[in-house]
Order: sequence, then structure tokens, then C-alpha cells
Amino acid sequence: MRLYILDLGRCDVDKGAVLTPGSGDGTRIDIPIVGYLIQTDDGRNLLVDTGIHRKHIADPLATHRGKPFAKLLTVKMRPEDDIERRLGEIGLRAEDIDVLVSTHFHFDHCGNHADFGRARILVQRECYEAARGSDRFPRDLFDLPHLRYEMVEGDTEIAPGVRLLETSGHVPGHQSVQVRLPRTGPVILAIDAIYTAENVETDNWGVYMDQDRARASARRLVELARAERAMLVYGHDPAQWATLRKAPAYYD
Ligand SMILES: [Zn+2]
Repeated sequence: MRLYILDLGRCDVDKGAVLTPGSGDGTRIDIPIVGYLIQTDDGRNLLVDTGIHRKHIADPLATHRGKPFAKLLTVKMRPEDDIERRLGEIGLRAEDIDVLVSTHFHFDHCGNHADFGRARILVQRECYEAARGSDRFPRDLFDLPHLRYEMVEGDTEIAPGVRLLETSGHVPGHQSVQVRLPRTGPVILAIDAIYTAENVETDNWGVYMDQDRARASARRLVELARAERAMLVYGHDPAQWATLRKAPAYYD
């Protein structure tokens, strides 16, 4: 089994407003936008998230123009950060993806779901229902008739050594992913259950939709990582990002 970490661009954000309220308010930093590809031993391709929609390469304000949030976040996406290009670098096309794990429906995680009409798309039922019932999520990006969603409820093994972990709090029904690699050992992809190491170190869940659930989900991942000596990958941590191996290199 292999794990590829896909570089899908950056966002220039107000650190305090977007990640850690009370720490770095007004300070601008670049955060990574990330997807993951897991290749199983039986030759299946599992993609986790699809990054920001490629229209932002030419128009960084495509999503937030005219909204207050535009002052807090600017997309910085190059042509090579397109999911199609990143998959191409490892010899794959969208049609080769068997399963798309959709962790949640924020614009930086579901931007190019429309490409993956051939894949089974796995999402927590709570996440899907909450997002379809709210105008806070970009339905034009994920609620499309040609996409084949399959509902998952709670922790679920989806392939030998690949497990979805229900980690609500960031949004209802957010999910993280655990992968057991032969050489590297266990890896936990926290996604937005933990934005950065600082969120855990300072117990700061101020921008999460449900702070109590977010704290419980994050603690669970930290404890699981400790118990299993797993590598814990945060969702948008620039310092950790600098240390990670990116595709076409991989972890096995
Ligand atoms: Zn995110």
C-alpha cells in the first residue's frame, strides 16, 4: 500500500481569524491545501478530497469576491496544483479513481468533486445531510446529479488497513482517515479535525462549528496516534507541511 500526499495549492489567510482566534489575529500566513491518494495492494485508487476548484487559478476571488471573508483568505493556486495535474504526475486520471473519500464539504476540500463521476463517493451521512440542508456549504460543487454518494455512519473500514474515523466538530459528520502502511506504520490523516499542531497545544477550537465535539474528536486522534505510534498529519499546518514527502514521492 502507498500513500501519496498531493499539493493542491495554498491559501493566504489571517491566522487568527481562520485558524487560531486570539493567536496571530491580523497576521497573514500561507496554509497548504491538501489531498491524498491511497493505492491498495489489490490495485485500487482511493482519493481523499479534491482541493479547491481550478477556476481559482485564473480568478483567486472566484468564491469570496464581495464577501467579508475575502479580507481573511486569498486563494493562491498554480496550474500544477490542479488535482488533475497532480494525479497525472503519478500516472493517473480522474477515471482511475475507484473511491473518493469526501471528508467534508468546505470549498477547499470538495472543489473538484465533479470530476469523479465514476467513483463511489464515501461521506458520513450526518455530513451529507447537514451540508445539503444549509446554505453555508457550496452545493454547486458537491450536490451534483452525476455523483454517486454512499453514506457511511461512524468509523468504517473501507479496505484492508484503511479506516474512516468519524471526527465531528469542525462540521457535523467530518471524517478523518487512518492508513496502515507496511514500512511507515500507521498514519492518521486528521484533515480539519486538527488544523495545526497549535490548535491541539493551546486547546483552541474557536473557529470550529461545535467546539466541544471538536475538542473530543481531536483528543481522540491524538490519543490514538500516541497509542499506535502513528504519524499524525494535520489539515493545514504550514510547519508540518514543510517536512512532509509530497507526490510523486510517497510513503509506503
Ligand atoms: Zn480545510
